[in-house]
Amino acid sequence: MNLLLIYTGGTVGMVQNDEGSLRPFDFDALLSRVPEVQRLEANVDMLELWDPMDSSNFQPAHWALLAEAISSRSKDYQGFVILHGTDTMAYTASALSFMLMSLGKPVILTGSQLPIGVLRSDARENLMTALELAQLQADNEATIQEVSVYFENKLYRGNRVYKKSSQAFDAFDSPNWEPLAIAGVSLHVDKDALIQNGQAACVGKAFSLATKTNPKVAVLTLFPGMDEDIVRAAFSGAKRKAIVMLTYGSGNAPNQPWFNQLLREAQDNGLILINASQCKNGGVSQPDYAASDMMRQSGVLSAGDMTLEATLVKTMWLLGQGLDNKKFKESFLDNLCGERKALKVD
Ligand code: ASP
Repeated sequence: MNLLLIYTGGTVGMVQNDEGSLRPFDFDALLSRVPEVQRLEANVDMLELWDPMDSSNFQPAHWALLAEAISSRSKDYQGFVILHGTDTMAYTASALSFMLMSLGKPVILTGSQLPIGVLRSDARENLMTALELAQLQADNEATIQEVSVYFENKLYRGNRVYKKSSQAFDAFDSPNWEPLAIAGVSLHVDKDALIQNGQAACVGKAFSLATKTNPKVAVLTLFPGMDEDIVRAAFSGAKRKAIVMLTYGSGNAPNQPWFNQLLREAQDNGLILINASQCKNGGVSQPDYAASDMMRQSGVLSAGDMTLEATLVKTMWLLGQGLDNKKFKESFLDNLCGERKALKVD
């Protein structure tokens, strides 16, 4: 079995410079700290696509390069592990899940909170277990057939995670989907949680790479006291194609006439409006309250139980596919690759 380990940067491979701040160091130096990689059953090849970077600098073009690198090598490798900074790992994982939909192989992102050279580092365990999970097979088929994130004993669906802590080793959470696997003394995979056993539209479809995105999207966080000028400016600014509104609770917003009026005007002018919740857990359920039903009636799309990261990336990715508004709406509300519970267009 062949696995490909792709190094992109992040804290995992950083060292302290003379001033004490962290900077990236090279792949060979990083791997010399983990000789255990050679003891795995699988042969592990290494790839660096660019000079190691802090993931805060990642752009959609980096997601596309990663997806292309994996797609073009998918005949030679049974699985892929990506070493990545934690800050934007949830965005990259979401993007790869759409770009590599139906690949049918493990693509596992991992990283660490402390650099690999530090004595108490979490890097070694994260890397070794991610590689072990990538080599899991049953009946000659990969056990994990989706883009996922491994961190601190848990494997999560990539488009369901967000970074919850800048300090704890347990840095990620998947509030609306159970972990795909837990690493204890043995690796326990929850088969019911895996993509191939679920309802996602990509299951059983042929793979075709789709890396185009269009980042003409913005986020508007609602808060008590937000006035008409702010909303008007957000809806009319800089040729955005879509605005994700971060609303209250299960998708509620002030049901005031001026707000309703602005929602309708913006959509008449072709802007796509999306309702995502400030609550990480549970998500949006638009008809629950009058304050959210007003959004549904005006045509605002519910982000359902998606993370903000998946919502933004899915929007960019769907805009990149050049769909008309009706098809955009259908695909946005659908469960394409495990990112949400599907909703029907009404
Ligand atoms: N700023 C770093 C990055 O995202 C943090 C990390 O690696 O955990 O690259």
